[in-house]
Amino acid sequence: MTSQFTEGNPTVLSGLAASPGVVIGEVFRIYDRVDIPRHSIPANGVPVEVHRFLHAVKRVKKDLRSIRERLHLDAHRDGADIFQAHIMMLEDPTMVERIRSHIATHHVNAEAAVADVGAEFMDVFSQSENPYFRERSVDLNDLVQQIVSLLMGEERLDLFNRENEVIVVAHNLTPSDTVLMRKSKVLAFVTEAGTRVSHTAILARSLGIPAVVGVGTSITKAETGDQMVVDGTHGRIIMWPDEEQINEYRIEREKSYKVEADLSALRTVDVQTTDGRQIEIAANIEFLEEIELIRKYGAKGVGLYRTEYFYMDREDLPSEDELFEDYRYMVEQVSPETVIIRTLDIGGDKLVPHLNLGGSMDSLMGLRSIRLCLKFPDIFMNQLRAILRASEYGNVKIMFPMISGLDELREAKWHLEKAQRLLKEQHIPFDPTVKIGAMIELPAAALSADLLSKEVDFFSIGTNDLIQYTIAIDRRNEETLPLYEPLHPAVLRLIQNVIRVAVDAGIDITVCGEMAGDPVLSILLIGMGFEQLSMSPTVIPEIKKVISSISQQDAQHLVVEIMKLSTAGEIETYIWRNAMDRFPELLNWV
Ligand code: PEP
Ligand code: MG
Repeated sequence: MTSQFTEGNPTVLSGLAASPGVVIGEVFRIYDRVDIPRHSIPANGVPVEVHRFLHAVKRVKKDLRSIRERLHLDAHRDGADIFQAHIMMLEDPTMVERIRSHIATHHVNAEAAVADVGAEFMDVFSQSENPYFRERSVDLNDLVQQIVSLLMGEERLDLFNRENEVIVVAHNLTPSDTVLMRKSKVLAFVTEAGTRVSHTAILARSLGIPAVVGVGTSITKAETGDQMVVDGTHGRIIMWPDEEQINEYRIEREKSYKVEADLSALRTVDVQTTDGRQIEIAANIEFLEEIELIRKYGAKGVGLYRTEYFYMDREDLPSEDELFEDYRYMVEQVSPETVIIRTLDIGGDKLVPHLNLGGSMDSLMGLRSIRLCLKFPDIFMNQLRAILRASEYGNVKIMFPMISGLDELREAKWHLEKAQRLLKEQHIPFDPTVKIGAMIELPAAALSADLLSKEVDFFSIGTNDLIQYTIAIDRRNEETLPLYEPLHPAVLRLIQNVIRVAVDAGIDITVCGEMAGDPVLSILLIGMGFEQLSMSPTVIPEIKKVISSISQQDAQHLVVEIMKLSTAGEIETYIWRNAMDRFPELLNWV
């Protein structure tokens, strides 16, 4: 496809500043489901496209068979039957032949042929009198999506074969796409959709990949080969920049190196407020490579190890031993400080491409996170055993995500105790005193924190999801972003309730959501009484600078005042009108 941007016509676009840094480079465009690539191919290109299509069918069949087997093993017969039906459709030569001949006669790429023929068949199925056939149209849609995704996945994998570094432009990227990027030559990425608190943006910050998200449809007019500047710090993009703009950005980049160098002085110090309140700042980590950053940015251990990314970076489920090696390495490297290992939090937008357990994994309110682990205990048990084994090598705490209430917490603990019992019987060493925590990221958990506090050693507030579920706002959706409001009185009240409960119960409490790493919001958290925060390593120096320049007492007064206000807007205005003189450091971050 041809780009709508041209050399000699610089175009400035803006989006959300998702991950800081400035780069200049060439676009590599990737497409996804909402934007199926369609191009004509020469006659001699037909065999290649047919081969790509047949190969994708083979891969999908293989994946479906392994899911079917897994479900059989787990005695989920209904699910297994659905996958069997999908396999049979793929084995029916009619549709496969139609797609093959569609490529040959229309000279189109495999993705377009699958979408066209799939749509024809779905039409016929959905108009059938027979309810059985009508239902099959949903299955068919699923299959078409899978084959097209796989074909487009190849395109994503093309990234690895490129010689030069590129800027990825896409409608949106999943966390698993982003995981792949860390091994390829990606300078930055820009997406049409997305928000700062999506997992994709969080990952970009962790990986140090500059990113601008939520740019809107204008960016979809860019194509591979376009030149662009990406300013992830200010959320700006320039298509085909002129010399002057390129120079400005070079200067900007130098400036950001200097700011980073200035902050380096704070990398190793413990941090305290001006009135002497010691604050511990730990790191949120996704990959072992980030251990380096813990040292570089002076974090006190790992406050959140997001273990799900290890499952995304491969084609099958990891074995207990593989998980154990990963955790052991992390724990040994971080020792004597603590690593809080969060159990698998997949589902929602954090899908594992090879792990399709059916149902509502991709729904934010569906079968995800701890619910999924409890439904598939063999996956859960594998991980629990690995974490326990790693606990022998340093300081480990285990944390369960998305806990909604006591029943779920007890069930998760039951599995943990079972894992401990089995390891003991097998004479495999582990730390029997390992501490257990619950993430407080659902309103249900925040409101029943008093009940939960009696059965855990610590709480960790996941504000990213707590905001999402309290206001019923999808954290990934740029259209409803204005409603994603950390200062919403409901959110602040819930957080305050949880810290009060934790203090009364005498259990540890920390915040590991993005609120902790935001300069203004971190002041509110200090004012509420938090003494432990966990955040992306790269923001730690800034937050240390803010904290070391404020008094805890002033922050506490600020909280008292804002808790009297009624809306997020009023709170924000109050902070900007009344707090800037008391917290002058913040002016550097606006
Ligand atoms: C959160 O929800 O705040 C959190 C820390 O977890 P995640 O961002 O991985 O959902
Ligand atoms: Mg969460």
